[in-house]
Amino acid sequence: MGIYSVSQQKIATQIEQKQIGKSKWKDWRWQLKHCVTRVDSFEALLGISLTPNEKRKIEMTMRKFPMAVTPYYLSLIDRDDFRNDPVFRQAFPDVRELEIEACDMADPLAEDQDSPVAGITHRYPDRVLFHVSNVCSMYCRHCTRKRKVGDMDSIPGREQIKAALEYIRAHQEVRDVLLSGGDPLMLNDDYLDWILTELRNIEHVQVIRIGTRMPVVLPYRITDNLIEMLKKHHPVWVNTHFNHPREITSSSREALRMLADAGIPLGNQTVLLAGINDCPRIMKSLVHKLVENRVRPYYLYQCDLSEGLSHFRTPVGKGVEIMESLIGHTSGFAVPTFVIDAPGGGGKIPVNPNYLISLSTNKVVLRNYEGVITTYQEPDRYENKFCDRKCDKCNLKLKLEDSQESAATGIEMLLSDYDNTISLTPADNERMERRDERG
Ligand SMILES: *Cc1c(COP(=O)(O)O)cnc(C)c1O
Repeated sequence: MGIYSVSQQKIATQIEQKQIGKSKWKDWRWQLKHCVTRVDSFEALLGISLTPNEKRKIEMTMRKFPMAVTPYYLSLIDRDDFRNDPVFRQAFPDVRELEIEACDMADPLAEDQDSPVAGITHRYPDRVLFHVSNVCSMYCRHCTRKRKVGDMDSIPGREQIKAALEYIRAHQEVRDVLLSGGDPLMLNDDYLDWILTELRNIEHVQVIRIGTRMPVVLPYRITDNLIEMLKKHHPVWVNTHFNHPREITSSSREALRMLADAGIPLGNQTVLLAGINDCPRIMKSLVHKLVENRVRPYYLYQCDLSEGLSHFRTPVGKGVEIMESLIGHTSGFAVPTFVIDAPGGGGKIPVNPNYLISLSTNKVVLRNYEGVITTYQEPDRYENKFCDRKCDKCNLKLKLEDSQESAATGIEMLLSDYDNTISLTPADNERMERRDERG
C-alpha cells in the first residue's frame, strides 16, 4: 500500500534508532505507539530548529492543548517551508491558541447540554452523534472539541456504551447514528464490531455513519480486516476530513479505494482555515482530488467559536467567495454545502451565495455563476391543494412501502407458484354479473 519514501525511512530510523522495514512503518499500531508529542522530537524528526523563545512559547501552549502527530502525517510536511505548510499548521501548536477572544466558548455547539446520556448528543429529530472514543491518533490544532483533548484520553468502557445504546434503543425516532469521538477508528476492530452489531440489532436504526480522520492522518488504519468487518454492517457511510490537496497521498488514495470498493459511500468534511485552505484555487483542487477518489465533498465548515481557534477563523465572506468559485464552475457533486454550526446548539445552517435576484407573482429573476441574469416564468395556473393531512382522500399517493416488482399479472400470475389466483375473468362477464345480482 503506497510508497515508503526516503523521508519516511529517515523518520522511522530516527524513531527506532535502527532501520525498519516498510511493513512496520505501515503498521498502524506502530504509528500510534510512536506518535510525536514533544517539541524536540518534532524538530529532530523533521530536521528543523526553532528559536529558544519559540520553543518556550510552544511548550506553554502544549500545557493547555497537548500535541500528538502520527509519524506518517508528520512525514508529509515540506521541511523547506514548514512554517507555511498546511500539514505543519494543522499539527503543530501555535502560541495564538492561548489567545481567548470575547466571543470564544469552551463548548460553542452546546454538545454537552444536548447530551441526554454520556456519549450521546441528540440535537436533530432523527439522528444522534454517538461519541465512542475520546482519543485521536493526531490532535488537530483546529479541533472544535479542543476542550476535551488530552484530559480524558480513554475509550469509554462497555457500561457507558451500553447505556448509550439503551438510549438509542428506547428512541424509535433515531434512524441514523453517527459514530464520532475522538476518532471511532481508534477502537480495535473487535470492539467496533461489537458496537456496530449492537446498533444493527436495533430495528429502527437504518443508517450508521462513521466520522474519522484516519484516511488523512493514518491511512494504514484501513486494513483488510477492518474492511471485512465494516462490510458486515451495511449500510455504513464514512465521512472523513481532508482540508488540503497535499493531504492526498498514494497511501490515503489506497485507503479510500479500499473503503469505496467495500461499497461504503464516502463523504468529506473540510474546515475553512485561515492560512491553510482559505483560497478558491486550493479548494477547487481539493474537491477535484476528492471526487477522483470517489469521495463526495459533503460540508465546508465555517470555523467554530471554540477557544483557541481565533487565528484560524476567516470571515464568512471567504467561504461564500469559495462557494461562488465552485458552484456552476465545476461538477455539482464536487461542491460541498457551506455551513455555520450555530453557536448555542442550533445545528448546521447552510450559507450560500444569492442566486435569486427578485420575484413577482408570476416571474422569478435569477443570475447564474457567470453573472447572466435570467427569468423563469411561473405557471399561470397552479392549484394549491388544501392539506388537512387526510392522505387517503388525496390523489397524491402517500404509499411509502416499496413497489412490488415481483407482483405477476395475467397468465404469468396463473403460472406462478407464489400467487394463489386460479382464474382470470373479464370484468363484463355475464355469469359474474348474475352472481352479483343474486348476492
Ligand atoms: C453534524 C451533526 C449531525 C449530523 O448532521 P447531518 O447534517 O445529518 O450530517 C448530527 N448531530 C449533531 C450533534 C451534529 O453536530
